[in-house]
Amino acid sequence: MTPRQIVEKLASFPNRGVATSHDIPVLEFLTGLFTGRQVARESFKTPKTYISVVWWLIGGLVTGLLTLNFLPVAGLFLTLVFVTMAMLYFNWYASPVTGFPPLVKSYNLVVKTENNHTSKPKKLILMAHWDTAPISVLYRPEMVGNFRQSLKISLFLMIAAQFIAILQFLTPSNFVMLIGNILAFYFLLQGVIGTIDYFRLGYSNGASDNATGVAAAIATAEKLWNKNLENLEVELVLTGAEEVGMIGARAYMKKHYTEFHKGTYLLNFDTLGNGNLKIITQTGSWSNIVYDNDLIQIAKQAVTEVPALKNVSTGAWHTADFDSVWFQRAGIPSLTLAALDTNGRMPNIHRPTDILSNVDFLPMEKAIILAEKIGEHLNNT
Ligand SMILES: [Zn+2]
Repeated sequence: MTPRQIVEKLASFPNRGVATSHDIPVLEFLTGLFTGRQVARESFKTPKTYISVVWWLIGGLVTGLLTLNFLPVAGLFLTLVFVTMAMLYFNWYASPVTGFPPLVKSYNLVVKTENNHTSKPKKLILMAHWDTAPISVLYRPEMVGNFRQSLKISLFLMIAAQFIAILQFLTPSNFVMLIGNILAFYFLLQGVIGTIDYFRLGYSNGASDNATGVAAAIATAEKLWNKNLENLEVELVLTGAEEVGMIGARAYMKKHYTEFHKGTYLLNFDTLGNGNLKIITQTGSWSNIVYDNDLIQIAKQAVTEVPALKNVSTGAWHTADFDSVWFQRAGIPSLTLAALDTNGRMPNIHRPTDILSNVDFLPMEKAIILAEKIGEHLNNT
């Protein structure tokens, strides 16, 4: 199948939400693409969507703030626990809240070539998430430009809530309590705004986010496998539950960490169906996560060598994060390829308009060219 046909097939499912009726058929379709390869379907536990995570965090925080009214010590304890978990989750660190019920089962698809008994000095992991996201009003064009700023404001107000709790515990007063109650109301409102479209509209179709990334990762893997590279082992990992908080990628890393060595690299593909192809060098919400490693250098070099990649440049993305974040933080040279429009946005993502008719295949085609080149470079140097 061509990458374009893979996108078309994936987009023919209404959505690819985790633990919906579509996820197994999607995984079966993907598995069927790899005759003669080793395909493992690796399961892990995850919340079904980030919606339950967000409501645990808001519910705990609001309960903590309201409890301050009559039992300050319990209120202080609750706010401390939930503010800490929220800070971790929204800064894309592992947070215990992602283990809170209800949990469902999701899957990563790990694909290798049969003949990798001989260990090669380098290993390239090609990654893309197959799942699609709940539709959210926060991704409407007029809102998404402020995503990072509003997230930062919410995180700041969570820290403020923590101080309110400490203050109310030490020197209780009606004024402090009033501010605490107003904050509780604000968080409730944020929760409703952030999640209401999921209850109204369900999941996005995900033609761009991330059928295009899956197709690009598969096409790159096939091209590199067919070259029988001498020094580079190539592994394809299609992750689930990225949209819950990069849960599948973390599960894969935990399971396979011992197989990684200093010649291990991660190349992630996310949302390549609109705008211009970018080598993402900065992500993060409160703090900046800066990607600056061998893989980035190789990608920049490759761009100068291939005329078709002439307009590919570096980019930043601060609206949620990518599967690569765990690997980047663990010191594994990592790179995400994504496409951004001239405003630095990903049009249509997490909206009902992320459908096939709005996909431009050019950034995906370029990503495949670039990724193949990166693989060749890794093999040759
Ligand atoms: Zn995505």
